Amino acid sequence: MSQEFNEEMEKRLIQLREEILESIAAEDEDFRSLVNAMGIKDDGDVASDDMMVKKMEALNQIAANRLKSVEAALVRLKNHRYGMCLQCGVKIPEERLRAIPYAVMCVSCKSGQEGNKKRAW
Ligand SMILES: [Zn+2]
Repeated sequence: MSQEFNEEMEKRLIQLREEILESIAAEDEDFRSLVNAMGIKDDGDVASDDMMVKKMEALNQIAANRLKSVEAALVRLKNHRYGMCLQCGVKIPEERLRAIPYAVMCVSCKSGQEGNKKRAW
């Protein structure tokens, strides 16, 4: 794993982190306006509003999980453990890291974890 490659990945991870933070902030904005809108509504739509809230919470959860993966990858870069499979310790191919900068497992461990689902990555 070259220094150059690590620097490239660090830049991409930092950029990714910013994008995720922005998307969470944008959803928070929607969330607030949704809550405001609910305050002035009739009772009729409460059920669907409730589902909307749950859906947005789930979306934020996905973003939060991605954020965690990105943060973890940045820590691994600092510890010089970036690009090594968490499970078997094998070097993750650079092409895979370029596609998913926060990947922590090699393709075979990852696909094993997902029940041998056939996937490109
Ligand atoms: Zn592995």
